[in-house]
Amino acid sequence: MEFLKFSKATWLCIVLATTVSAQSKCPASDYGPAAGVIESPGFAQHVNYGNDMSCTYNIKVAEGSKILLTVDSLITETCCDRVYVYDGPNTHSRVLIIWSGHLGAGSFVESTGNVVTVTFQSDNTVNAAGFSIRYAPSNAHLTPTTTAKPKLQIVNWKDRSTYWNSRPSPTDIHALVLHHTVDPTVQATYDALNNRHLSVHYIAAKNGTIYQLVDEANRAWHAGTGTWGSYTNMNDISIGIEIVNTGDEPFPTVQENAVAELSAQIVKRWKILPKNIVAHADFQEYDKTDVSGYFDFKLFYAALDMYPGLYTTKLSESDQKKVLYQASTTYSAAVKSIQERLQKYGYYLTADGIFGSATQLVVEAFNRHYCPEIFKQEEIVNGNEVRFAQNKRWYGISEERLAYLVAHS
Ligand SMILES: [Zn+2]
Repeated sequence: MEFLKFSKATWLCIVLATTVSAQSKCPASDYGPAAGVIESPGFAQHVNYGNDMSCTYNIKVAEGSKILLTVDSLITETCCDRVYVYDGPNTHSRVLIIWSGHLGAGSFVESTGNVVTVTFQSDNTVNAAGFSIRYAPSNAHLTPTTTAKPKLQIVNWKDRSTYWNSRPSPTDIHALVLHHTVDPTVQATYDALNNRHLSVHYIAAKNGTIYQLVDEANRAWHAGTGTWGSYTNMNDISIGIEIVNTGDEPFPTVQENAVAELSAQIVKRWKILPKNIVAHADFQEYDKTDVSGYFDFKLFYAALDMYPGLYTTKLSESDQKKVLYQASTTYSAAVKSIQERLQKYGYYLTADGIFGSATQLVVEAFNRHYCPEIFKQEEIVNGNEVRFAQNKRWYGISEERLAYLVAHS
């Protein structure tokens, strides 16, 4: 009996060891109160962290201390595998910083309290060596200016465009519109806008540098005459940001952080409501698909301290992905209710109870913006955009997100 027990345990160890090298597992989840190290799955064994990882590290030190996190080594897939550092006990806390890509030793960030939550997410493609990050209790010696937050770099290009005019009212600014450019560089974006006699307030380069073409008090020509909520001419009342991106590629984290930082300043300056931060594709002209589904709105809202519970779901994975409505010409009271609530939030559509092509385009825009769990990214094939029928369905997660948005706006 003893022998059997021993051999069974040994066998289990071998199986676990094999599992660790083939498919890395998350390390321990609780750390502190003394200084220590957190590492990506497999880091100690010198193996890559693996795809589709989702690990959480809770760090707690003595009351009254802050926590200093310092990168010793960090190598992840630049776009898509990220370390999120939250300034509190869970992922609803404020995001302090997001680390991704190749970071040299020494990058650091400090919490405001004695608890931080770190998560590591990898996607389903490339994986890499991962990270080793030291944490230590720190007393209040460090001032906030020593944290690693980059300062926004804005380059003045305001003498380069003539394709703008005065707003009907220079202080009537109520919306922020996010676009992606389709073009691969700042210069190509500027040329494309100019050639079409268009403009935008800001262009965000892939390296995070911002180029300003038009004063915020003036009316840039970026959003057409689209309708959102009670606003029927978006150029009159909005500020536009073109984010350099072809439309079927991930956004670098440094660029997304810069867009979030710029947006936070604009939102504060003009007191813009969360519901009036829209993607171009959200209003009226549903032929648009920008800003693409690759844009990380979770990071964006966290950086702006907006919609804190938006991405908390009560649904199981299968319920999130359950299709509630799709193409049909039959009247349904439930579809009418979805249409009315989308309308109430700001989307432009007719509440006729029919899940027809017009409603499907609105649903596609909604899913692209708010439901990354189910959204399949559009692709560019031979210069043509490919959109997917599955993005035009109403899912369990779509219903849950809409309920949250209507309740919190
Ligand atoms: Zn656009």
